[in-house]
Amino acid sequence: MPSLDIIGDDKLTLPGGEVVRFAHLDYAASAPCVRAAADAVAELLPRYGSVHRGTGVRSQASTIAYELARDVVAEFVGAGPDHSVIFTRNTTDALNLLARALPPGTTTVQFDGEHHANLLPWPNPLRLPAPGSPNTAVAALDEALRRLTGPAVFTVTGASNVTGELWPVRRLADVAHAHGVRVVVDAAQLAPHRPVDLTELGADYLAFSGHKLYAPFGAGVLAGRTDWLDAAAPYLAGGGASVAVGDRPGELSWATGPARHEGGTPNLLGAVALAAVCSALITADRAALHEHEQHLLGRLRDGLTAVPEATEVSVFGPDQPRVGIVSLHLRGHDPAEVAQRLSREHGIGVRAGQFCAHPLVRRLTGAATTGACGTAATGLLRASFGLGSTAEDVDRFVTGLAEVLRT
Ligand code: PMP
Repeated sequence: MPSLDIIGDDKLTLPGGEVVRFAHLDYAASAPCVRAAADAVAELLPRYGSVHRGTGVRSQASTIAYELARDVVAEFVGAGPDHSVIFTRNTTDALNLLARALPPGTTTVQFDGEHHANLLPWPNPLRLPAPGSPNTAVAALDEALRRLTGPAVFTVTGASNVTGELWPVRRLADVAHAHGVRVVVDAAQLAPHRPVDLTELGADYLAFSGHKLYAPFGAGVLAGRTDWLDAAAPYLAGGGASVAVGDRPGELSWATGPARHEGGTPNLLGAVALAAVCSALITADRAALHEHEQHLLGRLRDGLTAVPEATEVSVFGPDQPRVGIVSLHLRGHDPAEVAQRLSREHGIGVRAGQFCAHPLVRRLTGAATTGACGTAATGLLRASFGLGSTAEDVDRFVTGLAEVLRT
């Protein structure tokens, strides 16, 4: 049975001499690795070979492992016969791939609450201000699509990397589809916390990253409808993407299906590790995982009521369902400095800054500044968690934060 236990249990010695377990509260950036992924890599490492290339047993076994990984991911996202699963480097890569595969002249409709990975790659963007409620979001999208002429696509995050709030994806998708517009879901923060079924979400395309889904870095997924992908120019021209190349430039035929966009030697270990986590999640008791996470979220928010200097930010308000991500506006304190002190003095890993979502963070903090990705004078402090997080992590964060803000 593949295990969702987190591997590694770092011990740290604090300045006072106390030895503590590192409290990793930065899952939204990169989650720690689970046993299922580590086991899958360890099993394959001693016997891998080239994928889709050779006739030797290593090559054949690796090709089978790679394609099985694709099948598992297809099951994880509920892909059907009209869908493709493409292995990419990460979510950013997946969204850039899709952005280049849009039919010419497509307008991309988006809200400005997106991570930069889902804000910047798209051609012809029509950017709507992040709405104050799910109902406003649905109405704003409907209105924008009503006014629009010509082909469009709508792209939205499943869960905000800043506030953890779930966007009303299904309702937005229904509106988009009523206007004949396809829907892209950035599931980078959703997939680690909630089931991501293309049909249930109403998504035509989904993108996510292995390193946020308890697998190692370097593999991500774009899953969705094949027709646009097969009609588009290959994302990475080269071997694997081409099936026949003539003597003269331009004399060639490109592959269809995932191979068209996976030029070069693929990241077999990354794909297999990612699929191992998907497989473990498919059979896991998701309700129990959800309950554990929501319990920690409640505990964190309750604890923070005793830290009035820290205000939780939100797009839709405190009652909107959310995943294990909380960002705090710290009045009169530099979040970067607070994060450093939490690490040094309390053995806690959190993140400070604007989390590659500058327009949203500016809006949430009322700031007028811009800054480099993740390093801003005006920003937030973010705590995020998931599998393997404990009540002790949460309590240490709350106590540590209160102490840092008061001393
Ligand atoms: N979208 C969201 C919502 C994210 O949180 C992130 C990562 N912070 C990304 C996209 C980009 O993911 P990656 O860096 O793995 O490409």
